[in-house]
Amino acid sequence: MRFVDEAVITVRAGKGGNGCLSFRREKFVAKGGPDGGDGGDGGDVVFRATERLLTLYDFRLKRMYEAENGKPGQGQQKYGRAGKDLVIEVPVGTLVYELPRDDDELAKAGLGTDGYAGMERDGALVYELPDEDEDDESEERVKEGLLVADLDHDGAEYVAAEGGRGGLGNIHFKSSTNRAPRRTTPGRFGEDKRLRLELKILADIGLIGLPNAGKSTLISAISAARPKIANYPFTTLTPNLGVVESDSGERMIVADIPGLIEGASLGHGLGHSFLKHVERTRCLVHMLSVEDVPEDGDVMAGFNLVDDELAAFDSILAAKPQIRVVNKIDLIDEEELRTLRERFDKAGVPVHCISAVTGDGVSELVAEMQRLVRELSKSEEDTEP
Ligand code: GDP
Ligand code: MG
Repeated sequence: MRFVDEAVITVRAGKGGNGCLSFRREKFVAKGGPDGGDGGDGGDVVFRATERLLTLYDFRLKRMYEAENGKPGQGQQKYGRAGKDLVIEVPVGTLVYELPRDDDELAKAGLGTDGYAGMERDGALVYELPDEDEDDESEERVKEGLLVADLDHDGAEYVAAEGGRGGLGNIHFKSSTNRAPRRTTPGRFGEDKRLRLELKILADIGLIGLPNAGKSTLISAISAARPKIANYPFTTLTPNLGVVESDSGERMIVADIPGLIEGASLGHGLGHSFLKHVERTRCLVHMLSVEDVPEDGDVMAGFNLVDDELAAFDSILAAKPQIRVVNKIDLIDEEELRTLRERFDKAGVPVHCISAVTGDGVSELVAEMQRLVRELSKSEEDTEP
């Protein structure tokens, strides 16, 4: 299952330090020569891909990224220290798009048009703007920006904004006609850019089940180890994503798909393209509340209801391996639980009995999810040409 994660940020490289205006001062020399050093270069803004990250969540919280400025030059021919590069880590698979400049956006980011956005830039940016009479597609392209980097492997780097060069100190301007030059040059401004980051996220597991089964509760319970990215609200189709880490440190992405059953097969809500994405998920966790297990009669009735709905909705999805879960076992006593297990045993259907609230049975469930994902990704690799 794939979701597109996205963030728009502004990056600004460091400004170069100014060149220094200074003259030698020695005890017995009335008027020394120029000795003002150069300013240091400003730091770059660099993206680096890492397997440690799985989403662009952090970029929702912080939108402005600045590298350090270079230090000004000093007397006695001392050079200013260069500004440190700012290295921004992004998940492997992140695409970087450069967006057209927009003065309003810049103002919001605290950049005046007469400030860093100004003319003193080392590299001018040229945007391909569409012809007036072109169709919507090109307009869309401008909104999406220009693809500038595909950080497709661990450690891949992209310099998104280059730091400004440091200015020259007055030692550079000495000549036969001018032995005491007062001329220096200022440091150049660093590049600043508005970028759109895009990441296609593959969810390993889709969570399905009747409303109120406890899907959202489970997601937040099992992603608790990484609360920062638990219950990740997406802007578009709003499935909730949880990044689940097993005891062995392996990670998988679990997507809670609200509304999938409640109307997808009837064509409500989810768009056609979403259905295609859903098909790519490796397996499903099918949750049912113990409240929806009939006391007598077919113990599978609740599960079957959703399975039938799923089959009507999408036969490929319905054929995915499922882990069946009965939730809210805290609502029943031990005796009832034993009976429940026996009934599923008799039906020949393996189920995990858990309580998402108390955590009963949850780590076993996570281990099983991990096992299945591992097995399925292995067989996927095997069948690849
Ligand atoms: P969803 O519709 O499948 O996402 O279900 P929710 O996670 O929103 O849960 C529905 C209701 O069931 C909420 O009031 C939860 O607090 C409750 N709930 C979820 N898991 C459990 C559980 O293990 N035990 C009990 N007693 N209540 C639960
Ligand atoms: Mg929910």
